[in-house]
Amino acid sequence: MNQSLGLYYQPGLDEQIQKIKKQIETVFPQLAVAILGPLAIFPEAWDTAAKHYDVRYLIARSPVPERNAYSLWVVTSEIGDVWHSFLFGAVDGAKAVVSTARLEDIEDIGKEACHEVGHLLGLGHCPENCLMGTSWTVHSVSRKSGDLCRECREKLAGEFQHDKSIQ
Ligand SMILES: [Zn+2]
Ligand SMILES: [Zn+2]
Repeated sequence: MNQSLGLYYQPGLDEQIQKIKKQIETVFPQLAVAILGPLAIFPEAWDTAAKHYDVRYLIARSPVPERNAYSLWVVTSEIGDVWHSFLFGAVDGAKAVVSTARLEDIEDIGKEACHEVGHLLGLGHCPENCLMGTSWTVHSVSRKSGDLCRECREKLAGEFQHDKSIQ
C-alpha cells in the first residue's frame, strides 16, 4: 500500500497550505498528500510561563492518522516543549506539527514542513547541506537546501522498498 500524508492547518493558512502541499509533493513524490482541513489550536495547550503552546500536547491530541498514513499539522502559533522555548517543528510516531510563527518566507515554511515529513518517514538529522540538516535559527533555515541530499534520498528509497517487501 502507498504511504500517505494528511495535512491539517490552523485557520488562516488556507492559501499557504496549498503551496506547502506542492513543496512536500516535489520532495517526496512517493507520498500521496491530501489536505484534510482546518484544525484550530487547542487553547489548553498554552503554557503561560513558557509563552508557547506545548507541542507534545498538540501532537498527542491531534487526530490519529489512518493505517499506513502520517499527519502533519501546520500551525501559526509559537510552539515549544519542556526543553525548547521554541521549535520549528516536532514529530511523535506518525504525527508531526510544524510552526510558521518565526518563518515569513513560504519557501522556508515549506522546508521545515518537508523536514518534519522526512522525520515521519524515518530520516534522522543529516550533516550535509540537506533538508534534514538541523536548524535553530531562521537564517539557517533560509541557508539550507530545500531538497534531500543523495544519501538521504537513497535511505528513503531503501525504506520504501523494504516496506513493499513486507506487505
Ligand atoms: Zn529535525
Ligand atoms: Zn541528507
